[in-house]
Amino acid sequence: MTTSHYIAGRWVEGQGSDCISVNDPALGQPFAELMAASVAQVDQAVSAARGALPAWKITSASKRAAYLRGFAEQLGQRREALITLQMRNNGKPRHEAEIDLDDAIATFGYYAELAEQLPSKNRDVPLAAPGFSARTRLEPVGVVGLIVPWNFPLVTSAWKLAPALAAGCTVVLKPSEVTPLIEQAYGQIADALGLPAGVLNIVNGKAETGAALSNHNGLDKLSFTGSNSVGSQVMRSASAQCRPVTLELGGKSAIVVFDDCDVGQAVEWIVAGITWNAGQMCSATSRLLVQEGIADALLPRLQAALENLRVGNPLSEEVDMGPLTSQAQWLKVAGYFATAREEGLQCLAGGKALDRDGWFVSPTLYADVPKDSRLWTEEIFGPVLCARRFATEEQAIAEANDSRFGLVATVCSADLERAERVADALEVGHVWINSVQAVFVETSWGGTKGSGIGRELGPWGLSAYQSVKHVTRCLG
Ligand code: NAD
Repeated sequence: MTTSHYIAGRWVEGQGSDCISVNDPALGQPFAELMAASVAQVDQAVSAARGALPAWKITSASKRAAYLRGFAEQLGQRREALITLQMRNNGKPRHEAEIDLDDAIATFGYYAELAEQLPSKNRDVPLAAPGFSARTRLEPVGVVGLIVPWNFPLVTSAWKLAPALAAGCTVVLKPSEVTPLIEQAYGQIADALGLPAGVLNIVNGKAETGAALSNHNGLDKLSFTGSNSVGSQVMRSASAQCRPVTLELGGKSAIVVFDDCDVGQAVEWIVAGITWNAGQMCSATSRLLVQEGIADALLPRLQAALENLRVGNPLSEEVDMGPLTSQAQWLKVAGYFATAREEGLQCLAGGKALDRDGWFVSPTLYADVPKDSRLWTEEIFGPVLCARRFATEEQAIAEANDSRFGLVATVCSADLERAERVADALEVGHVWINSVQAVFVETSWGGTKGSGIGRELGPWGLSAYQSVKHVTRCLG
């Protein structure tokens, strides 16, 4: 049993009723367990954050920046342990676990820099009216609750924690019950750095713990990343209390391939966009729109590339793709395979669970999927790609935009003018041209339509934890 809650600067045993099993998805077996935090412990965490706020928010920006640099350094010092834990608990191939760690390190470094620039943002406002002066203050929002999913645990938490701490907020983080050990590193680092008690609190648990946090009336804001169904509950709690919320939700993103592309290169981009993290990405480009002139050449190469991927246990084999992270996700993806059979979809690759221990599925490709198929419209969150053909640029844009989600898209074309034009027309938060899933901390993350509210990363990620205040003085 692991001690896993970090409240008011101390590690405490969970007093909740849920016992959480931490699993190795490649074996389908648990390797640790812990008790969830109780509702009372969530309350203690929020109180600790409230108590720490007055001192933290007036801590100089340069001192807060120094703590953030400390987080970046200490993540680096825990490199091998964190990579191995992500491989074991998420099933990530080593190179993916390394990239996640590097992303988290870059995020803390970036927000350290933005924290250092904060004093210069509090500046005088030139007024047209004579006789008055005005100045801006960017103040921390206050105590924030952070609820995150399991697919990129180090990264998603870093995208929230680093800007929140940079802005001068104090936080209560609730990691996913699927991956509750990985983000404990953030508590251990807070300890090692001597971060003041209560500035960062971590409570682990399932829905009950999450709901206790999102319903808590001691928060000034809640930032949530996860599914649309839970996101709408979180938004209801926020609306009941009229307080701000950031929501990073699901996606069903398009990759549009024009017929002037190099087929081999396009196949690489398509495969990466659907098999990275075994397709368990909000930003997976799971709807392939391929132009008629290239479709017959591309689909067989894509089929072969998916069939040739090395799928296995990242801890014992050299792999391109690991298992799905949880049994629930494995059952969900298997359910979509059954739906595809019922709908009579044309399966070019995969379409089945692997016949071995653990929660493995084959990388999957369905061709000429009807627009009203559940597999075309719903987020599957697995390595399941659906393809359709298009004739014209207008048709590609219309089909790509025909979704209740609007997170990301990829456009592949040798005609860069066209690619830029299509990127401008896509109703999403981020478009990649001739590249795949390239996320930089300086650019924003977040979606339109059903993919959420607000933006993370870049200066927008910091603004999400700031409140704008003006002080206007009569000079007379
Ligand atoms: P989930 O919504 O089931 O869980 C997310 C978090 O919410 C977990 O910590 C969970 O314990 C907690 N939770 C569950 N019930 C709750 C409740 N009633 N009140 C408050 N909290 C509650 O999502 P998941 O399965 O962990 O993650 C997969 C989903 O996350 C996918 O839909 C994916 O698209 C989305 N996601 C989005 C982004 C993004 O940036 N847009 C990034 C990663 C994942």
